[in-house]
Amino acid sequence: MSASAPGVMGLRTDFKLLIGGELVDGAESLDVINPATGAVFARCPAAGKAQLDHAVTTARHASHAWSGKSFEERAAAIKRMAAVLRANQDTLAELLTREQGKPVGQSRDEIGRAASQSEGMAGIAIPVEKLMEDAGRRIELHYRPLGVVGIITPWNAPINLAAGPLVSALYTGNTVVLKPSPYTPLSTLKMGELLRDVFPAGVINIIAGGDELGQWMTEHPGIDKISFTGSVATGKKVMASAAGTLKRVTLELGGNDPAIVLDDVDPQVVAPKLFFAAFVNSGQVCMAIKRIYAHERIYDALCEALAAEARKARVGDGLDPQTQYGPIQNRMQYDKVVGILEDTRRNGARILAGGEVPSRPGYFFPPTIVANVEEHSRLVREEQFGPIVPVLKFRDIEDVIRRANDTRYGLAGSVWSHDPERAAAIAARLEVGTAWVNQHRATSATVPFGGAKESGVGRQYSVLGLKGYMEAQVISVLKQAM
Ligand code: NAD
Repeated sequence: MSASAPGVMGLRTDFKLLIGGELVDGAESLDVINPATGAVFARCPAAGKAQLDHAVTTARHASHAWSGKSFEERAAAIKRMAAVLRANQDTLAELLTREQGKPVGQSRDEIGRAASQSEGMAGIAIPVEKLMEDAGRRIELHYRPLGVVGIITPWNAPINLAAGPLVSALYTGNTVVLKPSPYTPLSTLKMGELLRDVFPAGVINIIAGGDELGQWMTEHPGIDKISFTGSVATGKKVMASAAGTLKRVTLELGGNDPAIVLDDVDPQVVAPKLFFAAFVNSGQVCMAIKRIYAHERIYDALCEALAAEARKARVGDGLDPQTQYGPIQNRMQYDKVVGILEDTRRNGARILAGGEVPSRPGYFFPPTIVANVEEHSRLVREEQFGPIVPVLKFRDIEDVIRRANDTRYGLAGSVWSHDPERAAAIAARLEVGTAWVNQHRATSATVPFGGAKESGVGRQYSVLGLKGYMEAQVISVLKQAM
């Protein structure tokens, strides 16, 4: 972080924090790098501790009126939010690509998806549940807002991963303090500017800042819940810190998703689908396929078909309309993926495609397919979160289920077969929050998403996810005049 200096060196500096309905400068500032060039291109405000306090105070104040509104009134505001996102899709997408690196068409999709998921969630009913009623008694289960929700997001899909928790919190009657990742704060701050007049002052506060700002949020006595999306390691710190004030938490953490490919598939048909689900956003997706287990009968053909996909992938600056795969988002992640590649080479694996890191500015890394990988290697055990994927061989179904489940991660997984029911029986044995058959990465506003094991706590989306932003309250009425 450095002192705020607007307009210097041709940097974009047209960013503000949103606190209490006002667009304000930060106590500090953050430099933001374009991963396609490796150079700083923007400087944005970063909140200090006093600004966090102010955001929490205004959110608390606004929560009295906001929590008193009906679901329908809040849904109407969320629909206006979706319309604003769509109306500004192109400008937001360009900024998102500049800070995140993904192809601009996929940035547009991310914003469109944030809009449609928001509308989808705002259509979910959360009725009062009647638990029993007879002549003498009535017992009901109500759901009340929690108060102020702190939302902390990662850098891989900043708009979509902000919109899910944001809309969940707002629709259920909470107010929000939202902090994007310091690597990708800009599109979220712009979204805040655009939403300033959509919600009453103080209902949404958007403050950029470094990791320490996230920690202050988790400790803050004025915040009732933390909705965190990010790595397992940080998720554990968030949960430990939130324990100090017994905040509620929803944690959406990392994954190491297996895809099990059975012996009866056509490798030519499944390879492009597996490839896209593994490499979209250059592998920087929590629920990307991160390990491919292929039956020995189709192993060689599938490896070759995946390698062919990798060889024809167009890697480049996300602003170039020809680009299919952009750079890795930041230097730290790039170094990690390069380290995993070197470890993979040292262990004698076969690199079937990719593996040559270009010496050019930016954090580019070609889609890389690796065969004959040791099960205990870093590439198999860790969440690589980048464009390098192992293809492992299996013969026996029991053995592959054991290997797929032999991890502390449990976000999602998939099974691929000519016979969907055969695959479904295997999918049900995966220790994951979502097990797909003949698809991967399919989510929707009405279907819960989240991790088993160390991939998370709680769920986002759906009635189940929304109830995580509310407190259950029993109303028990004894029908006797006193
Ligand atoms: P990260 O954990 O490093 O950071 C996430 C956010 O936490 C950032 O805003 C960061 O500033 C903040 N932070 C850092 N230290 C903190 C602390 N001590 N207390 C509070 N906040 C703190 O994660 P990342 O590298 O930005 O994101 C990549 C990770 O996110 C991957 O593991 C990926 O799988 C995961 N992810 C999960 C999902 C999901 O839905 N399950 C979705 C996307 C990404």
